[in-house]
Amino acid sequence: MSNVNCSCCGAIAEVHKTVNCCICDKAFKIDCVNISAAEARKIHTKHSGLNYTCKNCVQLGNNITDLKKVIVELQNDIKTLKSTVLDQQSPNSPASLLEAEKIVQEVAEREKRKCNIIIYGCKEDNVKSNKEQIQLDETVVPKISLHIKC
Ligand SMILES: [Zn+2]
Ligand SMILES: [Zn+2]
Repeated sequence: MSNVNCSCCGAIAEVHKTVNCCICDKAFKIDCVNISAAEARKIHTKHSGLNYTCKNCVQLGNNITDLKKVIVELQNDIKTLKSTVLDQQSPNSPASLLEAEKIVQEVAEREKRKCNIIIYGCKEDNVKSNKEQIQLDETVVPKISLHIKC
């Protein structure tokens, strides 16, 4: 008859008076874990369907169950975030349409000003509208260019 050490108290016990945890396989004295000799026999019988899980492993199992819940929640959060991001990137979303509109306007504006020249030292004109400014420019600029010899 071989003896084993109980994993909780370290006492030596005969094998048939111990049960092994089905997860960590550690041996426990049946007195220590409140298991009757009859239950222990069933646990020792393969295919009896009765297993013993030690407190540590039950706790570990609970922790893993909790962790699984957290992982599932995180996966859902990621899914939601992904769909939000994809939504914003889709060419038909209001946000990206607005952005595209801005870019088109900026390009058009730059194209319009491509041939602009800046003349320094001119008197600031006291004009009331863009139209008036254009009219003034059209009379002043030719006068200036008369003096430029290229
Ligand atoms: Zn013990
Ligand atoms: Zn265990």
